[in-house]
Amino acid sequence: MKKYNFYAGPAILSETVIRKASEAALEYEGTGLSLLEISHRSKELVAMMEETESLVKELLGLDDDWAVLFLTGGASSQFFESAQNLLNEGEFANYVDTGTWSTKAIKEAKRFGEINVIASSKDQNYSYIPKGYDNPQGARYLHITSNNTIFGTQFHSFPDSDSPIVCDMSSDIFCRPIDPGKFGMIYAGAQKNLGPAGVTLVLIRKSFLGDKRSDMPTITNYHTHIEKSSAFNTPPVFQIYVCLESLKWLKSMGGVEGMQKHNEAKAKILYDEIDRNSLFEGTAAKEDRSLMNVTFVSKDESHQTEFLAACEAAGCVGLKGHRSVGGFRASIYNAMPKEGIEVLVQIMKEFENKKG
Ligand SMILES: *Cc1c(COP(=O)(O)O)cnc(C)c1O
Repeated sequence: MKKYNFYAGPAILSETVIRKASEAALEYEGTGLSLLEISHRSKELVAMMEETESLVKELLGLDDDWAVLFLTGGASSQFFESAQNLLNEGEFANYVDTGTWSTKAIKEAKRFGEINVIASSKDQNYSYIPKGYDNPQGARYLHITSNNTIFGTQFHSFPDSDSPIVCDMSSDIFCRPIDPGKFGMIYAGAQKNLGPAGVTLVLIRKSFLGDKRSDMPTITNYHTHIEKSSAFNTPPVFQIYVCLESLKWLKSMGGVEGMQKHNEAKAKILYDEIDRNSLFEGTAAKEDRSLMNVTFVSKDESHQTEFLAACEAAGCVGLKGHRSVGGFRASIYNAMPKEGIEVLVQIMKEFENKKG
């Protein structure tokens, strides 16, 4: 039975993409070699990386001031690398704390400069996105986490800020169009909404990054990777290729505009059922509900195990909520088809009939 993958990460990829990846693992585009054994300096793979870079730019509407980097170390490495590269002597950055990942970003950034936490939703277990806070002027950047994978909240509009936004978009990059003008840097671990674990996408505006600094280790200096087109050391070419295929798929689905419509329609079906069904309730503030990670609980806690078992039996896997929220979390990234949501909603309805 084909299962519907609701895991938060690593997460669902489109079947077309997985087929392309398995073909490339056997033989890469007529080269007589597997993609897993080809040099990253070969003309084929240099071209593949260039194509991925230009597709990223095309889909997000990034001009040539933007560098597209494929790094390793996960979004977690960017928590400190961003501060290390961006904060010069005497500068400070503002951070909005919207959950576990923001908290980690703050902790690591503090090793490299003055960090002001200007707003937090910790008081209500991160169930909402803070609004109406003061964003002190003159910061080098404002850091936010656009989608809170664990708590199921998402920024539906980006804050106004005199300083550029540095954004962890690990779990919602390419889920909708963005206005690049608001951002100085965007980073994302691929394994949530784009590709397999092992590659981290870093987008940085060169004019925002500024001049090369000599006081940093070579490998964490963004200039190194800009100068060497992400091939200073061996890049994760297989992962990059899967991202490329996933972006081609995304383009065929109408690009980020098409994805947004698809994602909004999918999320609506599920949230409507959560609100209608007498057994369940959502955990995130309605206006901040995520299009990617839908968090909900059963009103009667004793139903939890049985509901998860009903989901498993119907082929819906990965729905157990993160321990910091409990209950359930349906991760419905770009690649989740509408049918997956419809199957889940059907299980919820049947469960209500059975219990009611
Ligand atoms: C998963 C996740 C991370 C951590 O990503 P790694 O690539 O595993 O380091 C960071 N931020 C957000 C929002 C995430 O969802």
